[in-house]
Amino acid sequence: MSKIKNYDEKSLHLNLLHKALSLNTEGVIITDIDRKIKWSNNAFEIITGYKFEDIVDEKISLLESGEHSDEFIERVYSFVNKFGVWKGEIINKDKDGNILPVDVKISYVNEDGLEGYVCIYRDLSHEKISDRRIRELRDKDSLTGLINRTYFTDYINMFLKENPKSDLSFVLIDIKGFKNINDSLGHDIGDILLKKISNRILEIIGEDILSRFDGDEFVICMKDVSDKKYVLNRCKNIMDTITKTYEIEGKEIHLGVNMGISRYPLDGKDVTELIRLADIAMYKANDNPDMNIAFYDYKMSMEIEERFLMTNMLMDAIDKDEFELIYQPMFCNVNEGEIVGAEALLRWNNGEFGSVSPERFIPITENTGMIVSIGNWIIGKVCSDIRTWIDKNLNVRPISINLSIKQLEQKDFYLRVMDILEKHNIIPELIEFEITESVTSGEKDIISENLKELSKNGHKISMDDFGTGYSSFGKLTTFNLDKLKIDKIFIENLVEDKKMQKLVNSIVAMAKSLELTVVAEGIETYKQFEYMKEIGCDISQGYFFSRPISKIKYEELIKI
Ligand code: C2E
Ligand code: MG
Ligand code: MG
Repeated sequence: MSKIKNYDEKSLHLNLLHKALSLNTEGVIITDIDRKIKWSNNAFEIITGYKFEDIVDEKISLLESGEHSDEFIERVYSFVNKFGVWKGEIINKDKDGNILPVDVKISYVNEDGLEGYVCIYRDLSHEKISDRRIRELRDKDSLTGLINRTYFTDYINMFLKENPKSDLSFVLIDIKGFKNINDSLGHDIGDILLKKISNRILEIIGEDILSRFDGDEFVICMKDVSDKKYVLNRCKNIMDTITKTYEIEGKEIHLGVNMGISRYPLDGKDVTELIRLADIAMYKANDNPDMNIAFYDYKMSMEIEERFLMTNMLMDAIDKDEFELIYQPMFCNVNEGEIVGAEALLRWNNGEFGSVSPERFIPITENTGMIVSIGNWIIGKVCSDIRTWIDKNLNVRPISINLSIKQLEQKDFYLRVMDILEKHNIIPELIEFEITESVTSGEKDIISENLKELSKNGHKISMDDFGTGYSSFGKLTTFNLDKLKIDKIFIENLVEDKKMQKLVNSIVAMAKSLELTVVAEGIETYKQFEYMKEIGCDISQGYFFSRPISKIKYEELIKI
């Protein structure tokens, strides 16, 4: 038990107080005015490891950790001398030299000839450790141990405040198909893979800063880099490292990566903004299978903005009557000049964007799902045009309508078609549909069902743009096809290119053997027409015969 030593008898009236302090759970030390320790309690021993016997008459400075300057300590004591008490958090050290954060209250006492200080300590180390843990959780990604998005952003912002003249590159890395790896091999393997990826990057980036932003997204901040080529080479190096085969639990894993890069100060000044721009570049890299690394370019933002504006405007395009259908006639090759039908082609005439090519706006309507209602509008419009021509007693021929895969993925799409036709009193034989090879990658069951029913009802189905997609000849037989439209890309160089001729010859031969009618689109010259006719192609469509024309002009062509 602690005891007071070398102490004036008359001070021992503090005995009661002494007992109370002995039992206190907070550490207590009493020193004389020279700050020599005269008394300490058990709790102090528990907190610091110092027994009273070890430290009696020692200066209290033996607890100092070096964290605080001498001036600070003197300021504390002069405050105590002046105001009687000081309270605050300080960092001491324990008997083993470990850092010991404490909450301390130092009081000046001068009673009955006893002048000195009473110091009461509360150990903060547990709270501090949990504080540190909280900070760790807040700043670090628990899986890889890398700093997270918040810390990265704060840190770089702070760095830029102090070094505004730096040249930085922000490289956003996205692992392609990571979700598939997680789904097929399990999240545990996914986690191991992420750790391995982060280790591989860490090994080669030197002083650069790596952060894990999100699931499979990493960001590297490269410092002091202004040369684009140099950045690109480093990114290629990182990409090579990441994409080398992984072996986890006996499984070989291959992965691909997309990288988007933005640069400070060229592209922006704010870290969050720069990451957003790197993200835009990354999506651009992802859009293009031949480009895995892309630098941000302001045109990318313009494209996104334009797409956003177009999306909004397309929403009202039907109501504002901005869509128009034009018709491109198709001609029989055997009976030259005979119109066998026409293809309906959509035009969007918008106040802001002018006349927009379908190649620009159809993908937007597909991504947003708008194509479904626009597609229904198209079918309705073609039916109503045909009805007008029938009523005018014109030589009505079938009209081909391009279908998006999104329409064919609508359950019971064929019933919707039936409704529209019925409403206009049009027979199915007058409406044909053009599909593309993309149907082989969609919701196969629903698409097949729709195509089967459409065919059963009497609609002819063409495979459009044949040869540009990835489908094989074999797959052609799985859909109820009647016609095959050879893409204009094959026709373009047909006359000069012998290899192209061989290819087209075999496409026609194959189509014939499957009893498909062959249509050549993009016929621009007589020679092209002649060649195609020669090899057995049945129908021609192209500028050589007619450009797509307005409904009124088409009516002129089909007057009997
Ligand atoms: P597509 O179905 O292959 O349509 C043929 C495209 O080739 C049309 O372009 C047409 O104007 C163009 N073309 C016709 N003859 C020639 C020629 O001799 N030379 C050249 N260079 N081009 C020729 P357009 O109208 O710009 O349509 C482009 C694509 O947009 C269409 O390709 C089709 O995939 C899509 N599209 C057009 N209208 C619709 C529609 O109503 N619905 C859907 N889902 N897609 C449509
Ligand atoms: Mg077409
Ligand atoms: Mg086509």
